Amino acid sequence: MSILNETIYKELGISKEVYELGEKTLERLKERFEVIDQNAEYNQLKVLNAMQKNNVSEACLLGTTGYGYSDIGRDKLEQVYASVFHTEDALVRPQITCGTHALALALMSNLRPGDELLSPVGKPYDTLEEVIGIRPSKGSLAEYGITYSQVDLLEDGSFDFEGIRKAINSKTRMVTIQRSKGYATRPTLSVERIGELIKFIKDIKPDIICMVDNCYGEFVQKEEPSDVGADMIVGSLIKNPGGGLAPIGGYIAGKKDCVENAAYRLTSPGLGKEVGASLGILPQFYQGFFLAPTVTASALKGAIFAANLYQDFGFDVFPNATEDRFDIIQSITFGKPEGLIAFCEGIQAAAPVDSFVAPEPWDMPGYDAQVIMAAGAFVSGSSIELSADGPLKAPYNVYFQGGLTWPHAKLGILKTVQALHDKGLIKI
Ligand SMILES: *Cc1c(COP(=O)(O)O)cnc(C)c1O
Repeated sequence: MSILNETIYKELGISKEVYELGEKTLERLKERFEVIDQNAEYNQLKVLNAMQKNNVSEACLLGTTGYGYSDIGRDKLEQVYASVFHTEDALVRPQITCGTHALALALMSNLRPGDELLSPVGKPYDTLEEVIGIRPSKGSLAEYGITYSQVDLLEDGSFDFEGIRKAINSKTRMVTIQRSKGYATRPTLSVERIGELIKFIKDIKPDIICMVDNCYGEFVQKEEPSDVGADMIVGSLIKNPGGGLAPIGGYIAGKKDCVENAAYRLTSPGLGKEVGASLGILPQFYQGFFLAPTVTASALKGAIFAANLYQDFGFDVFPNATEDRFDIIQSITFGKPEGLIAFCEGIQAAAPVDSFVAPEPWDMPGYDAQVIMAAGAFVSGSSIELSADGPLKAPYNVYFQGGLTWPHAKLGILKTVQALHDKGLIKI
């Protein structure tokens, strides 16, 4: 390694042997990283093109207060999202507090009592269980007389087309398709597969609204689910599309009707998109969206780098070292608590904020085991920033994601390797 690199890595606590192992691993990832860079290049230009075509101007970066009437920056940002995702309209607001809120909004505003929601890809993300009422909760869809049915993926991860055909009935009004595996152990769906599924469903019943939970998937591929027939795509701005700069927010992009329903639900019937002050937040929304393609690429490189290192150490990694990626989440199975804890300590020690604290397992509300979390983020809870967590129970999986820049993701992963090595949990 160059003298300068040697010095800075040493100063950050990376030994020569860990650094060199990293370099050796990266040698074989060159071609894959090139593909990721090409993808980022395309997506970067897609975002830039949308900003130019929509005449984003300096005035768009100013905010409004109060009711937020005539907030041109807010309205234009929504056009930019719609242009990038090739949808008729979009709702992109700081008043949408998180991904779960965006999804709840999309569901509740487009379903009516007596309708049925179908998930053809198995159990949805944890927090949606209470939105839907799978676990009883105040204000759930179930309380409003909206029923739910679910068809699981088959053993090998493929769609249960026959099961889906049987599940669709005269009440089925909407399907929810989760792109990312989230924290489940099924494969993440590629945009192509989502397209196949939507086509199958629309062939059976054309007026079903197909919504895709796009969390963690934005800009991972060149196309989005809205390019292959999704009526609505929904996500969080403290994940990929916020580019690390958005401090809050969510989006719904899709058919005009669907977005309009969501806007009336978010604010009020009659008011819809016309109100909702952007305050001073638009520069971060615009700039974050502008940076999102390359930030997502950095996170993807980090996930692939870690999968390759840890698979070589003999751990089960999911996705594995060589398979294609359709989201930014990586999991590693340590088999014992020491590995999971050391990994999280490594990630924390690499953080720009709170690097000096040691993460510890704690009894997090709603979980049946202790959970350990590592995050030293500029935006609290942001998971496009380098972060890791996992429950302290067998098989001791860590889930990690993010990295605003590739050099930072790389350092974070080297820090985890160093931590496991120093504790004698791996041999180099
Ligand atoms: C993160 C996530 C959500 C929920 O988003 P929050 O911002 O945490 O509420 C929903 N679905 C998937 C697949 C996610 O990854």
